[in-house]
Amino acid sequence: MEFKPFEKKVYLSSPTMHGEELEYMTEAYTTNWMSTVGKNINEVEKTVCDLIGCKDAVGLSCGTSALHLAIKLAGVKPGDKIFCSDVTFSATVNPAVYEGAEPIFIDSECDTWNMDPAALEKAFELYPDVKVVIMANLYGTPAKLDEITKICKRHGAILVEDAAESLGATYKGRQTGTFGTYNAISFNGNKIITGSSGGMLLTDDVAAANKARKWSTQSRENAPWYQHEEVGYNYRMSNVIAGVIRGQLPYLNEHIAQKKAIYERYKEGFKDLPVKMNPFDEINSVPNFWLSCLIIDKEAMCKQVRSDSDACFVKEAGKTCPTEILEKLAKYNAEGRPIWKPMHMQPIFRMNPFVTRDGNGRASTNAYIEGGCADVGSDIFERGLCLPSDNKMSVEEQNTIIEIVKSCF
Ligand SMILES: *Cc1c(COP(=O)(O)O)cnc(C)c1O
Repeated sequence: MEFKPFEKKVYLSSPTMHGEELEYMTEAYTTNWMSTVGKNINEVEKTVCDLIGCKDAVGLSCGTSALHLAIKLAGVKPGDKIFCSDVTFSATVNPAVYEGAEPIFIDSECDTWNMDPAALEKAFELYPDVKVVIMANLYGTPAKLDEITKICKRHGAILVEDAAESLGATYKGRQTGTFGTYNAISFNGNKIITGSSGGMLLTDDVAAANKARKWSTQSRENAPWYQHEEVGYNYRMSNVIAGVIRGQLPYLNEHIAQKKAIYERYKEGFKDLPVKMNPFDEINSVPNFWLSCLIIDKEAMCKQVRSDSDACFVKEAGKTCPTEILEKLAKYNAEGRPIWKPMHMQPIFRMNPFVTRDGNGRASTNAYIEGGCADVGSDIFERGLCLPSDNKMSVEEQNTIIEIVKSCF
């Protein structure tokens, strides 16, 4: 089948503006609150507390800075070993490295693609002294948060929840970003709610939140001059950025509904193909469906080889691979993306431990094996991909994308 390339590029996930953003930005301008103080910041901090159900929210320059301050509040020190999600964006892990910690990567589970509670339990057997766990909700899908929080509690470890991708998603009726002692969200340009940039630290510990606020403005002490007792950061949110976020926040539920409709259209469109959509716990969780992903059944994978920078594949009738699908989408002006490459496969982390539920780490056979899974992350990376998930994509455009994917088999 032949398709016409999209005249306007169909993006993975781009900002969706509504108009109020400009009004609040203009308010910052006309009132001359153009710095890191002002009504927009106060309002978005309050709105996010009400929305998420946390006691305090600290407006920061980005999700990464929120995670950095979370790690510091959790007491991470140079040389500490900490447990981290393996399949995630590197921003989950980098702040721990800034503090000199050694990340130990915990394998993913088949059920949600998030941190595997069984692998986390195994990791505490191997490294009983670990005191901090950083866990991300991948692509807007909540992890098994009850199990994760219970395991952390049992081992006396602090949980830091990276909810950068999962704003508005719930687990057993409770918002993600409230399960950790310290939690982070992001307003990066590709997230479900954006400020162009920006992020927040969420916590019920108001004293900790105030400490983070102080750190984020260069740790200035209460004195007539610049007085400092501890190291500081320039991490505070801008009042102009906060204006964009303030205009966006009322649309969170609308954006989630659009993303969910996209996910369901893909699911229906692919029902006769040997693929599955990114899975979630349908009983306990409601994702925000930030990105729709698919994973190709093992039997339907053609040969695919990836180096550190290139990919190639051998075409086979009736079979395909993420590389073929992504190249074909790009040819028609649509943007997909490989699954986030697992951290344990990244050259920078090649020496860091990796723990699977069978405890074999890097020696594990590649995945989804009978009776359990081992090195699930590299298997999802091998067979999965992120589909165009922009909430401005029309139904017709999405139908064409579905046909393009079908034509790869
Ligand atoms: C986007 C993202 C971040 C970082 O957010 P920034 O605002 O871009 O710094 C952190 N973790 C995950 C999982 C993300 O997707």
